[in-house]
Amino acid sequence: MGTIETATDVTTLRNYIGGRWVEAQPAGILDDHDPASGELIARVPLSSAADVDAAVQAARAALPSWRATPVLVRARAVLALREALIAHRDEIAQLLARDMGKTLADASGEVGRGIESVEAAAAAPHLMKGENLEGVARGVDVELVRQPVGVIAAITPFNFPAMIPLWFLPYAIATGNTFILKPSEQDPLTSQRIMQLIDAIEEIPAGVVNLVHGGREAVSAILDHPGIHGVSFVGSAATARFVAERAAATGKRVQALGGAKNSMLVMPDADREVMVSGVMGSSFGAAGQRCLAGSVAVLVGTREEQDASLQAIVDGAKRLRVGPGLDAETDVCPVVTPASRERLESEIAAAVEAGADLVLDGRIDPGPGGTFIGPTILDNLPDESHWLREELFGPVLCVHREPDLESAIEWSNGSRYGNSAVMFTTSGGNARAFRYGIQAGMLGVNVGVAAPVAWFPFAGFKDSFDGDLHANGRDAFEFYTRKKVVTSRW
Ligand code: NAD
Repeated sequence: MGTIETATDVTTLRNYIGGRWVEAQPAGILDDHDPASGELIARVPLSSAADVDAAVQAARAALPSWRATPVLVRARAVLALREALIAHRDEIAQLLARDMGKTLADASGEVGRGIESVEAAAAAPHLMKGENLEGVARGVDVELVRQPVGVIAAITPFNFPAMIPLWFLPYAIATGNTFILKPSEQDPLTSQRIMQLIDAIEEIPAGVVNLVHGGREAVSAILDHPGIHGVSFVGSAATARFVAERAAATGKRVQALGGAKNSMLVMPDADREVMVSGVMGSSFGAAGQRCLAGSVAVLVGTREEQDASLQAIVDGAKRLRVGPGLDAETDVCPVVTPASRERLESEIAAAVEAGADLVLDGRIDPGPGGTFIGPTILDNLPDESHWLREELFGPVLCVHREPDLESAIEWSNGSRYGNSAVMFTTSGGNARAFRYGIQAGMLGVNVGVAAPVAWFPFAGFKDSFDGDLHANGRDAFEFYTRKKVVTSRW
């Protein structure tokens, strides 16, 4: 399973506020462990309302001059961040793989996706443009200008510690806002490193970007702070709803991306190899800890066709290797914490108790401190049970069977979530019916993880999303700007 270096300097992380690394005044300290070895790698301060307030004061102080900085210059500052991320991509991926647990290839891909968001944000001089209409009445013209919203806070989850902060940070500052990041307290080292890079970028002045480590208390302080004008959130559905409601109650603009239970429709006409490879990546990549993870295989067709699809999936899953993310041979990495592994193991045991067939059992000895759990497949789950309808967030694939495409779409649409859905088929007609009828924001056809590139919006439907404007793409420019309309007579 490879060796992991021993940390020699386990320090308590500092917040980055107003261009300085400052000690938090935390309510508590959380230990951050390497999920593959259990080794302690950092101590995370659970920042208080006073720490959040200090970041808000710094962001407010930096706002007038940053807003007045020409948009072309702000775009160049974002491009300087791009250069820094590219220069340090491998190092960030190593750190990310160690702290979050995912494989090095996955971590490097994630940093690459984050860099794409930075590149898209550099289009600010184009996408911040307003519009005008001459002659709405005699001698009267109307113009629309876009201006920054003010101070933006982003609250992010553990599963993409590089990419998700970068869904927000570059767009927010390119459009002239100042920014506070509250990363996941479970794996904050990637954000810490990105802030060190930002600290060295002259084009991003002190106070424009700030970092506050912490958990619930810091989130509550962000939501209640009158000096914060907009909140971008990604995390579980329950937290997303809480954040959206509280932010709205305190008059903030909010976008809150929540959890998921994504169906993968496996048609009997699917190319077997494409389907198996897509399902493996979707269900077991990053140990199933993705909001785009395919967590229900909806097998379509006759009983024989469904069984043949399932057999191919099981055969593929048996070939996957479980191990530390930093081991180049690994397909399935550990889950993020021992608590997460224990929760998944009890879910598997409870499903079996309820009568499900454990077609593939991934429960293995995780070794001392490790949080490994292998690919697991459950068939014949009770109808409408939470295993079929709620997020498990681990390498556990649930199977559901439907006789035809129409019933498969209808069953999938019975979910309270609507983040993503994918279909494996060789029929254009099937693919079109799927695109037309399925209720989800991000679809894949013969693609297992349908993550849109940064120039398109990223978010789902129903309980997977609270808000209106999605992350990334043109929506990001809408979210981070306010529209002002001027009617003039000269
Ligand atoms: P989480 O909801 O536990 O935590 C997300 C953030 O909210 C963290 O910064 C955390 O500190 C904070 N938080 C957690 N509980 C809180 C509470 N009770 N009050 C206030 N703040 C709280 O999510 P997670 O476990 O870090 O991430 C996994 C979840 O995120 C999954 O549900 C996954 O589907 C979802 N996710 C969604 C998307 C998407 O695009 N829709 C992307 C990635 C992850």
